[in-house]
Amino acid sequence: MDLEKLILHKVGEAIARFSMIREGDRIAVGVSGGKDSLTLLEALLRLQQRAPIRFDMEAFTVEQGKFLSPIQPVGDYLRSLGVPWHYVQDQPSLDLLETEPDHGCDKCSRFRRRAVYEIARELGCNVIALGHTADDFCEALLRNAMFTGKLSALPPVTTSRKGEFRLIRPLVFVTEDLTRRWVADRHTPVIPCGCSQKTGTVRRSLRDYIAELEQDYPYVKETLIAAMGNLDPQRLLDPRFQGDADTQRSMEQELFPIVTGM
Ligand code: SF4
Repeated sequence: MDLEKLILHKVGEAIARFSMIREGDRIAVGVSGGKDSLTLLEALLRLQQRAPIRFDMEAFTVEQGKFLSPIQPVGDYLRSLGVPWHYVQDQPSLDLLETEPDHGCDKCSRFRRRAVYEIARELGCNVIALGHTADDFCEALLRNAMFTGKLSALPPVTTSRKGEFRLIRPLVFVTEDLTRRWVADRHTPVIPCGCSQKTGTVRRSLRDYIAELEQDYPYVKETLIAAMGNLDPQRLLDPRFQGDADTQRSMEQELFPIVTGM
């Protein structure tokens, strides 16, 4: 399957499986300037042309002062694709960079979320599409399992806290090696964020660990993504998902007949 078909197939599968897009939706697509969000936007544009339902799209970029070069080439590129692009300098984020240059991701993403909601509201959108990829889902799963004691990743679809927006992540099945190839093939202008070069973070360690595993097991990310859709709660330790005592006893006897005296 060629690259475009493969990506559109994966995005289409995510949209259908999680009912991400509905008739009449107006979607704000966050474009960070990186390969993933640019791939997301182009994939949605292609699917829009062939979808049986009608939906509109607006692209936007929040300036938080972290781009390593001017973002305008991305805007020019998006306009050449025929999609409206809105560039918003978020003053609170820029101020934060001045007063607290070493602020962490929690604060930065909280500021970005507020700005994104404001922009989507102004654009009259009811859906916000985010460019998180299969890699992000895998990292979130491992990070939560290893550092927060919770088996969870990211929601493919959710609503904002006040129910104002549907938040969708149509790249859930698309790995970053595919988005990298997509932008390289098209010579899409990609503007790096200063944070992409950060080292010594948990995220970077997990990325490196997965990349190392991929040397011997090239489908490890696809397998992790499949695992997230194929839970076996009886083999985990959350009592909320265990059967009653009788069910557990019969399962034990089936699995461990000698230990249970059969
Ligand atoms: S990596 Fe950088 S841009 Fe991303 S949330 Fe963290 S501080 Fe913000």
